[in-house]
Amino acid sequence: MPIYGMKVKCPKCDDIAELGDDFSYVKCSKCSLDMTYGEYVKFIAYKDAIYSDILGDYTKDTNGSAAGTLDEW
Ligand SMILES: [Zn+2]
Repeated sequence: MPIYGMKVKCPKCDDIAELGDDFSYVKCSKCSLDMTYGEYVKFIAYKDAIYSDILGDYTKDTNGSAAGTLDEW
């Protein structure tokens, strides 16, 4: 088996995916992921956006609690 490409984290199953050495593809043998690097970057950005939303909600909740505490004082 030829060794080529770089190992990256599969955005779908978090297993090891292979990034083509010319950045032309990302493939994961575990979940059959097969996309271009451009699609992979968009996929990661999309996941990050969801994660940021979760963090944003968490920050909002924390601020709400702080405001409630201030009101009690
Ligand atoms: Zn995968």
